[in-house]
Amino acid sequence: TQSILLKQRPEKTPQNSDFEFKEEEVSTPKSNEVLLKSIYISVDPYLRGRMRDVESYIEPFQLNEPITSAIIAKVEKSEHENFKEGDYVLGHLAWKEYQVAKGENLRKVDPKQANLSAYLGILGMTGLTAYFGLTEIGAPKEGETVLVSGAAGAVGSTVGQIAKIYGCKTIGIAGSDEKIDLIKGKFNYDEGINYKTTDNMKEAISKAATNGIDVYYDNVGGEILDATLQNINRNGRVINCGAISQYNKDETATGPRVEGILIKKSVKMQGFTLQNDFGEKFNEGTKKLAQWLQEGKLNYEETIREGFEKVPQAFIDLFSGENKGKMVVKVAEE
Ligand code: NDP
Repeated sequence: TQSILLKQRPEKTPQNSDFEFKEEEVSTPKSNEVLLKSIYISVDPYLRGRMRDVESYIEPFQLNEPITSAIIAKVEKSEHENFKEGDYVLGHLAWKEYQVAKGENLRKVDPKQANLSAYLGILGMTGLTAYFGLTEIGAPKEGETVLVSGAAGAVGSTVGQIAKIYGCKTIGIAGSDEKIDLIKGKFNYDEGINYKTTDNMKEAISKAATNGIDVYYDNVGGEILDATLQNINRNGRVINCGAISQYNKDETATGPRVEGILIKKSVKMQGFTLQNDFGEKFNEGTKKLAQWLQEGKLNYEETIREGFEKVPQAFIDLFSGENKGKMVVKVAEE
């Protein structure tokens, strides 16, 4: 079976040559273990941070060891009482075609309730990130204006729709005209700004946000954050969810660089990590997302690549915005 290791730490944008495929034997599960076949592998921007050898909220990946991420897998053999052959599970697992894992860290998922890949996106990490970041930190109120960057991505496409459910006006920022059409259509955004074809983001935001910005859900950081702060309203809230525009840089730009704005306008800016800050509330969040999905109030999009050999490239493509919605790789038939 194949496994994908981190061969060297990426410099700037990750390359295929930073990864290595290795052939290995599959072992047999011992007591309380299961043998798993990977079906869907999640690739996520935060994995870039783990490829650096620096202290963070999560351990760095080790060189010549497999990358790990959220994976939906099928149980092939079970020595654990909670699982039987044919069950589907979600786990934080290694980028391997087959692997033996401890049963205690796996959660069963039901393919009859939702598409299996949805447990990696709308009903998984990115959906929960959108939900808790927006509702608990952003605390949007009816009639307010919510701006979202990375608006056509997994988190951002969900944030906009939840803000609409809360009765807000929504403006999304994304990197192509096709994505702007998508967010205004499928994800219900009122306005869209293509940051790649806009010279002056401060003005573009000001034009789209006739009443200013009350809540900014930031997935990208950098200059778009600066431009937003220049349009933020009194008592505005800024949710620092991610800063993908900075992930491949050696030196992070310092910020916020707009002198005194947070002070003068009493703006609250807060970061979070899903697991650390909202880990206890996942059931509540998942229930809410599932309910909205069922009621037809939430749409979601996935970019599904096929083949285990495509996993590194799918990850790399996140940084050039090749994905719409959640990027996942289907590595075996269900
Ligand atoms: P996405 O599905 O949004 O994929 C990444 C997107 O980022 C791309 O499609 C691309 O879209 C955009 N992008 C890439 N480079 C840049 C750039 N230089 N400037 C602006 N946009 C860029 O990923 P996720 O939804 O999984 O994650 C979104 C953000 O949320 C990330 O920053 C991630 O790290 C963060 N996150 C944080 C969590 C937390 O607990 N705090 C948990 C999960 C995610 P485009 O074409 O528009 O450029």
